[in-house]
Amino acid sequence: MTESISKKEKDDVKTFKDLEKKVIQERLCCACGACVAYCESQSFDVIEIDGYTPKFKSKENEDNCTECGLCYYICPQSGTLEDLIAQDLDIQDELGHVNDIIAAKTTKEAIEKVGQDGGIVTTILYYLFEKNLIDAAVVSEHDEELHTIPKLIFDKEDLLKSAGTRYSISSQIIPLKDLYNIPLEIQEEKGIYDIDQMRVAFVGTPCQVKALRKMQYLSIKPAHVIKYVISLFCFENFDYSTLYGTIEKNKGIKPSEMKKTFIKKNFYIQKTDDEMIEIGIKDLDPAVRSHCKLCDDFTGRYSDISVGSTGAPEGYSVTITRNNTGQKLIDSLLSGNYIDQYIHPRDEESAWKEKRKEIFKKMISRKAK
Ligand SMILES: Cc1cc2nc3c(=O)[nH]c(=O)nc-3n(C[C@H](O)[C@H](O)[C@H](O)COP(=O)(O)OP(=O)(O)OC[C@H]3O[C@@H](n4cnc5c(N)ncnc54)[C@H](O)[C@@H]3O)c2cc1C
Ligand code: SF4
Ligand code: SF4
Ligand code: SF4
Repeated sequence: MTESISKKEKDDVKTFKDLEKKVIQERLCCACGACVAYCESQSFDVIEIDGYTPKFKSKENEDNCTECGLCYYICPQSGTLEDLIAQDLDIQDELGHVNDIIAAKTTKEAIEKVGQDGGIVTTILYYLFEKNLIDAAVVSEHDEELHTIPKLIFDKEDLLKSAGTRYSISSQIIPLKDLYNIPLEIQEEKGIYDIDQMRVAFVGTPCQVKALRKMQYLSIKPAHVIKYVISLFCFENFDYSTLYGTIEKNKGIKPSEMKKTFIKKNFYIQKTDDEMIEIGIKDLDPAVRSHCKLCDDFTGRYSDISVGSTGAPEGYSVTITRNNTGQKLIDSLLSGNYIDQYIHPRDEESAWKEKRKEIFKKMISRKAK
C-alpha cells in the first residue's frame, strides 16, 4: 500500500521532461529562464538555456535531475499555482488588482532622452538606488545589433544603458542564477555581507513576472531577494532573427542602424540619422513568438507596478499601482519630484481612470482573440 502510494506520488511529480513535452515542444515556452535559474542556483547541474530554448546540458547531466519538480511548478506556461497566486494578490480578473492609475513622465533630462515613453521604469530604479532601497536591479541591456542582454546591475550610473524597449525576448529571470557568484569587489563596495539579505528590483514582461511570483509563492531561492516587481505592458513579443530579418529584407535596415523602435498600431523605426520608417504590424506577424498568441496578460497583473504607453498622453507613461509597495513607491516619486503627473481637470479624473480600465480590458480581449 505504502509502496503504491509513494509510486503514485512519484508519478505525479512533473519534471523537466514534462516541461519539454508540454511546454517547450508545443512552442509555448516564453524563454523566461525561470526553470534554468532555479535549477542552476541549486547547483543541480542539469539544464541550461541555449539561445531561447531550455534543454538538458547533456545525457549525463540528465541523470543529475533530482526530480524535485520545481522547474515545472514555477514555469509561467505550465498552468500551475495560478489560482493560489491570484488569491494571494487579490486578482479577480484579467486586469488584476488596480489600486490607482496615473500618467506620468520623468523629470530627469538624461532619462527623458533615452526612455521609451515617459522614462518611468528607469526613474523608479534610479530612485530606488538613490534612496538605498535596493542593492541591484534586473534590467535588459542590448548590444549594437539590438540583441537583448538580461543583466543584474548594481549602480544607478548603469541605468541609461537599459532604458528603451527592445522588441525581442530578454530572458529576465536568468541573471538570478548568478546571485551567489556576485564578484567580491561589488559585495565589498556595496557592503553586502549576506547575499540572502540583498534587495533587488525586477523589470520584465508579464509572463516573466508570473514566473517570479510563482517562485516567491513557493518561497524558493533566488526569488527571495526580489523586493520590487515592475511589469511592462506587453501585447506581443518577437523572435529576434525573424523580426530583424524581415525588416532588413523589406526595408534594407540593419539593427545597428536603429536608434529606437516603437509600436503605435504599426512598427516604427527611428534610424540613427533620425529618419522615421513605418512597417505594417501585420507584415511582422510571422515574427511574433507563438506563445504570445495564447497569452491573456497585457498589463502584468502579478506586478507591484505596471508601466506602459497604451492610454497615455504623448510623452507620458501610464502606471497601474497594484498594492502598497507599488503605491508607496509612486507616491514617493511624485512627492520627491522624480516624476511629473499628467494633470487632467479634477472632475475628469475618475472618468479618465475608468476609460483606461476599459482600454486595457479591450486590449486583453484583442489579445485573447
Ligand atoms: C516586448 C515588449 C512589448 C511591449 N508591448 C507594449 C504594448 O503593446 N503596449 C504598451 O503600452 N507597452 C508595451 N511595452 C512597454 C513599453 O514599450 C515600455 O517599456 C513601457 O511603456 C515603459 O516605458 P518607460 O519609458 O517607462 O521605460 P524605460 O524607462 O525606457 O525603461 C524600459 C525598461 O524596459 C526594459 N526592457 C527593454 N526591453 C526589454 C525586453 N525585451 N524584455 C524585458 N525588459 C525589457 C529595460 O530593462 C528598462 O528597464 C512593451 C515592452 C516590451 C519589452
Ligand atoms: S533537478 Fe528539479 S529543477 Fe532541475 S531539472 Fe530536475 S526537476 Fe527540474
Ligand atoms: S520556465 Fe520559462 S524558460 Fe523554462 S520552460 Fe517554462 S517558459 Fe520556458
Ligand atoms: S505577449 Fe505574453 S507571453 Fe508574449 S512576451 Fe508578452 S507577456 Fe510574455
